[in-house]
Amino acid sequence: MKRITVLSQRLSNQIAAGEVVERPASVIKELMENSLDAGADRLEIDVEQGGTKLLRVRDNGAGIHKQDLALALSRHATSKIAELSDLENIRSLGFRGEALASISSVSRLKLTSKTGEAGDGSAWRVAAEGQEMEAQVAPAAHPQGTTVEVRDLFFNTPARKKFLKTEKTEFTRIDEIVKRIALSRFDVQFTLNHNQRAIHKLLAAKTEQEQQRRVGLVCGPAFVENSVFVDMDGPELRLRGWVSLPTFSRSQADLQYFYVNGRIIRDKLVTHAIRQAYRDVLFHGRHPAYVLYLELAPGAVDVNVHPTKHEVRFRDSRLVHDFLFSSLHKALAKITPTDQLAAADSNLHSGAAFGSSYAGSGADFGGGAQSHLSLSEPTRQSYGTGSHGSGPAAIQQQLAAYARLNADDDEVPPLGYAIAQLHGIYILAQNQEGLIVVDMHAAHERITYERMKQACQNEELKMQPLLVPLSIAVSAAEAECAESQRQMLLQLGIELERAATESIIVRQIPSILRDADIEQLVRDVLSDVLEYGSSDRIQAHQDELLSTMACHGSVRANRQLSIPEMNALLRDMEATERSGQCNHGRPTWVYQSLDELDKLFLRGQ
Ligand code: ADP
Ligand code: MG
Repeated sequence: MKRITVLSQRLSNQIAAGEVVERPASVIKELMENSLDAGADRLEIDVEQGGTKLLRVRDNGAGIHKQDLALALSRHATSKIAELSDLENIRSLGFRGEALASISSVSRLKLTSKTGEAGDGSAWRVAAEGQEMEAQVAPAAHPQGTTVEVRDLFFNTPARKKFLKTEKTEFTRIDEIVKRIALSRFDVQFTLNHNQRAIHKLLAAKTEQEQQRRVGLVCGPAFVENSVFVDMDGPELRLRGWVSLPTFSRSQADLQYFYVNGRIIRDKLVTHAIRQAYRDVLFHGRHPAYVLYLELAPGAVDVNVHPTKHEVRFRDSRLVHDFLFSSLHKALAKITPTDQLAAADSNLHSGAAFGSSYAGSGADFGGGAQSHLSLSEPTRQSYGTGSHGSGPAAIQQQLAAYARLNADDDEVPPLGYAIAQLHGIYILAQNQEGLIVVDMHAAHERITYERMKQACQNEELKMQPLLVPLSIAVSAAEAECAESQRQMLLQLGIELERAATESIIVRQIPSILRDADIEQLVRDVLSDVLEYGSSDRIQAHQDELLSTMACHGSVRANRQLSIPEMNALLRDMEATERSGQCNHGRPTWVYQSLDELDKLFLRGQ
């Protein structure tokens, strides 16, 4: 039997470093957070060789007292909390007092600082080299603020060092951290240099426009142009930020920034609520993009859940989930053709085309439009004398439509007036600024679907008793949940009761779902409710059914529509929520401005 000994301070710091200091990027995160906690509004970050050689963060914050310098490097030493109650109302990013100790145990660290206090003439420096601290405090030259310099990370922990990836990969991770933090504090200026090359210089952004510019620099201009700004208040909650239009989706969940009281987090509950808000409008398998800020009382969220503080725990998770879902759901439903046209317009200025980031059909409408709009193919030679829209009545209608378009007292609606139908599939329309092409089936499908949903909602969920009540074996936790949430489940259209410790009996279900796999559905609903406090599975199932029904009940391709019918469809689209995407998340219309058409024909160049 081996005997028990107390670990040396160095070893225990190195063990703690295992949690907090995974790679260069984690060092940058801790150092930047310290600078922000010190009230700095200017951060300069220098990195060499992906951070393995040098990581330096210089700030103009409050600085550290000479007497505290050595203490700053020791474990469980912090200026941010003093007692437990402080932890419950934490406003600083740090509070564990172990970052500098951990970092200095696995690197060569220098900490130089000067406070702004009167009489504090010179700056001071401490250095540590991966060993037990016998910190020597020496005078140094430094303006007010602090510089932390970390060299040769993991020089004394080769096992750790082996896990590092290439210089490029490590730097990409650092860059990602800098961007995340830059999005959390618009009032702070950030510069980032790698191997003496300037990577970012983000000036403090005061006005909304400047903030939007920073978001564009960090997330790419296409995101800003294809997103809407939301600002919603809830019960002691506030949600602000940018969410992407459903037609601007990503193949990966890589453009998702979510901040809780200024701290970036990844949280299952949050992701779930946002996904749910996009459920009905996002193309299958795609991910929404967002930069969102949730603010709530510090006491309503526990940040002390994880050493790297990437996770939080909400005191009332259901409230937060519902607030996020309903705010975003509302915002997405309200996106109008006018919003999308604005996005299309700004895309144009940046040289991209509407929907350019949508990796699906029609993505290159505009960019590669030459081939799309080419009229030189023999099959399309019949333009103007073609089979459709050539009868006298059609010409009359067209003239009427033109007359309406040109009557200047009449404001042209966003999607304009129909001028023709193309190959029985697309409606061509012109609005004030250009050409609109509508996928007629997709558009009609969405309109029918939204109407059916509305009808269903107004009618309330009709329930239908099961001929033979269904008994399901579940876990004790699930049975308890079913019992305590009986009322809520009833509102979803499920009537059930607990039969035993680990079994429930389902008596009634929503009649529209009578052919669904009830057992699976109830299980899934219960596990949602357990995890997120609510479930939208019933709604999702119901929507899926309605969507299929809507699909069958909508105009098929190759149906000739008259001009008034087409115009009616355009007006319906403008009036219908979520009409920019079909039930499967594909765009229902695209737009090309006259300017852009001119460019295609090299007009005025
Ligand atoms: P924590 O941030 O959890 O308090 P750290 O180990 O990161 O723990 O830092 C220890 C202490 O050192 C902080 O509480 C703070 O007082 C001081 N400190 C660290 N970095 C800075 C800085 N850039 N400016 C001012 N003070 C700092
Ligand atoms: Mg810290």
